[in-house]
Amino acid sequence: MDKLTTSEHDDLAKMLGARKQVMHDEIRTGLSGLRGETIEDILANTTDAGDIASANQMTEVSNAEVARDTAELRDIVAAEARLTDGTYGVCVDCDEPIPYARLAAYPTAKRCIRCQEIREEKG
Ligand SMILES: [Zn+2]
Repeated sequence: MDKLTTSEHDDLAKMLGARKQVMHDEIRTGLSGLRGETIEDILANTTDAGDIASANQMTEVSNAEVARDTAELRDIVAAEARLTDGTYGVCVDCDEPIPYARLAAYPTAKRCIRCQEIREEKG
């Protein structure tokens, strides 16, 4: 299996960036509904860490949707960190490159399909 080409890498970086923006927006919308704050109040805090921290607080109030979005945002931030440090697109279990088709469908994937299936079987 070949490593990602530069253009594949760039495409995935763009996908992650776009997805991150959606998650930021959804978390802010979800949190503003919970706290009765205006979007402007929440937009004042625009860092990833800030969103995750405030979302973590609010998930204790059990908003399942915010919890899900927060988990995805956390995955996206981790995937972007892997893009930066050059470990993106490599399976964390077997060290084989993850096929572009899988990453295009699931840009935050940390494992190849085979290792993911093994992991899910184990539970
Ligand atoms: Zn693997």
